[in-house]
Amino acid sequence: MHGARNPSGRKFENLSALCCAPWGVCYDKCMNTTATAQLADQTPAQIDTQLAALYSEKAKIAQTIEHAYSTLHYKANDKKRYYGRSRVGMWTMTDQQALDTVHAMLDAGTLAPYDVTSTQQTLANLVVAQGQLNQAKTQIAELDAEYMRRPWSRFLEVTSSNGHIHSSMFCSTCNNGKQMTEFAWHPQLSGLTEAEAVAQLGPLLCSTCFASAPVEWKRDRADVNRERKAAQPKPVKAGPFASISYITNGYPQRETFKTAQMAQNWVVKERAEHEAYGYAICIETVSEVTEMLIAAGFVTQEVLDAKVAAKVKRDKREGEKHARALGLIK
Ligand SMILES: [Zn+2]
Repeated sequence: MHGARNPSGRKFENLSALCCAPWGVCYDKCMNTTATAQLADQTPAQIDTQLAALYSEKAKIAQTIEHAYSTLHYKANDKKRYYGRSRVGMWTMTDQQALDTVHAMLDAGTLAPYDVTSTQQTLANLVVAQGQLNQAKTQIAELDAEYMRRPWSRFLEVTSSNGHIHSSMFCSTCNNGKQMTEFAWHPQLSGLTEAEAVAQLGPLLCSTCFASAPVEWKRDRADVNRERKAAQPKPVKAGPFASISYITNGYPQRETFKTAQMAQNWVVKERAEHEAYGYAICIETVSEVTEMLIAAGFVTQEVLDAKVAAKVKRDKREGEKHARALGLIK
């Protein structure tokens, strides 16, 4: 029998169907001591990878079983009672009582006819799930027996905001709240040294589980996260594409182009106005910006020339339209 008990006898009640092996110690000596030769050849990482998958599978099966029993409690006309301020209701029957009641109702034909098929299906699902659960537990026991035979290092990370890395789920600093502590297995680190685990997960070792580890490996997650963030290179704020100063018509001018596109717009406008209306421009500065644009691979001389020609044409058309509207030309 795989019981999930621990010395306090208080925590983990909700895992009554599960083996206690994840805490590293089995109180019911449930492990299968006939470890096969194949298991002896496997690395800690290989064994713990299978174990992690089996625990996840077992949790899913346990959920299916819980769901099936809930259905049976309803069919047996059981009701939930709420004690104190608790929002978690308690059935008045045990699961076994609910199961027996439903069987008795089926035998006596007192179940509503429309309920019979679905109830039979629930009972069948329950049998299948319980078989799967037993199978998972047997596989877990075999793998855990291998761990008990030659224990290796394990690194289990508590996923809460200030969680640490523990050597087993049975750490006195865990599972002290109302909710079970959630752990993330890192089976790929099983069998490795503390230094190797710290290199991959950060200096977050639990000081209870890893009492002899250097103090700098047993830090608070909040501090480590803050330092990591501070050490990250600040994103370099892109400067403007170009800043120029020049003189037109005797007046000093300054232009800052945030982007290459803005610089190109300026070049096109200056050249088009010069060509169309003969406006004075600072040829040197226009050439300088043009060279920067070409050097940056933003535009070629031909494309730029075509853009200027197009703008001259467009401006001319706009000018004529405007003059026509004012009655200056026909
Ligand atoms: Zn610990």
